[in-house]
Amino acid sequence: MKPAPFEYHAPATLAEAVNLLQQYEDDGIDAKILAGGQSLMPMLALRVARPDVLIDLRQVAGLTGVREEDGMLVVGAMEPKQTMVDAPLVRQRQPLFQAASEWVGHRQIRNRGSVGGSFAHADPASEYPAVALVLGMEMKAVGPDGERIIPADEFFVTYMTTALESTEVLAEVRIPVMAPGTRWAIQEMARRNGDLALAGVTLTLRMEGGLCSDARIAAFGVNATAVRLTAAEEALEGQPADAALFARAAAAGAEALEEPMTCIHASADYRRHLVKVLTERCLAEAVGRSA
Ligand SMILES: Cc1cc2nc3c(=O)[nH]c(=O)nc-3n(C[C@H](O)[C@H](O)[C@H](O)COP(=O)(O)OP(=O)(O)OC[C@H]3O[C@@H](n4cnc5c(N)ncnc54)[C@H](O)[C@@H]3O)c2cc1C
Repeated sequence: MKPAPFEYHAPATLAEAVNLLQQYEDDGIDAKILAGGQSLMPMLALRVARPDVLIDLRQVAGLTGVREEDGMLVVGAMEPKQTMVDAPLVRQRQPLFQAASEWVGHRQIRNRGSVGGSFAHADPASEYPAVALVLGMEMKAVGPDGERIIPADEFFVTYMTTALESTEVLAEVRIPVMAPGTRWAIQEMARRNGDLALAGVTLTLRMEGGLCSDARIAAFGVNATAVRLTAAEEALEGQPADAALFARAAAAGAEALEEPMTCIHASADYRRHLVKVLTERCLAEAVGRSA
């Protein structure tokens, strides 16, 4: 199928993009941002989305690049995801974000798809929202009233819905650099390499004298948004790291999940089972990794 007709704008500045969003909002016209088009274009072609207007961010100045600033990696929303795989700065300062990026689709999709697009799209099966919860990321939104910073745990509202207003553009994402001594892992199960995950788990934790501390664990592909596995985190705190503990903590995390999603590829029970197995595997991988 072909997309329904739409009006197309390619503003050169962020202010222009925000003005357009505001103007169409005032007129009651459905306008949408177009970034890399890797999710939106298929939705247009299938007519799952039928906006009247597309506002393409590709020519907007100042929305790319990655830099380190005040303990954060600051990434422009339009930076391609493949940069997050390739950039030495990302590998050195935030290896979990780099590893998560390698799980996203294929190289062609990562070349076209933007970092910001994955956060704004908020697919529950995407790796990035879960990593954002674990790392305590922040999103910078720019709208008619200026800019605001939204913490990750307030950004993802529900299935494909974020805290962004319809007149706001996600301008950059801020990723805390990995503190020395932090262990991390990300694992997922997908039907084919590059597919969105049926379920996945990512985590960070610290080890003090053989005891686990400060675990932050999130699952994706399971509920309407990525979710923290707080029961697993609590089970680990202050305990000696061994396989029996990992099994207990993983079971506690999986057990406490809200009823998981179900689809033709994976039942709710299978998704819960995957969360348990992947949490155990992530814990073993993270603890085995030299800090
Ligand atoms: C075959 C295939 C496999 C894939 N596998 C994965 C995977 O494993 N993991 C994964 O996470 N993703 C996967 N994706 C999705 C891919 O990562 C997309 O790139 C991403 O979801 C959206 O980024 P985009 O830049 O293409 O955004 P677009 O498709 O252009 O936009 C997506 C949505 O976000 C909004 N939006 C985009 N940017 C902004 C912004 N700056 N401010 C406000 N709103 C904005 C748009 O209005 C639209 O609603 C896959 C896609 C395909 C086609």
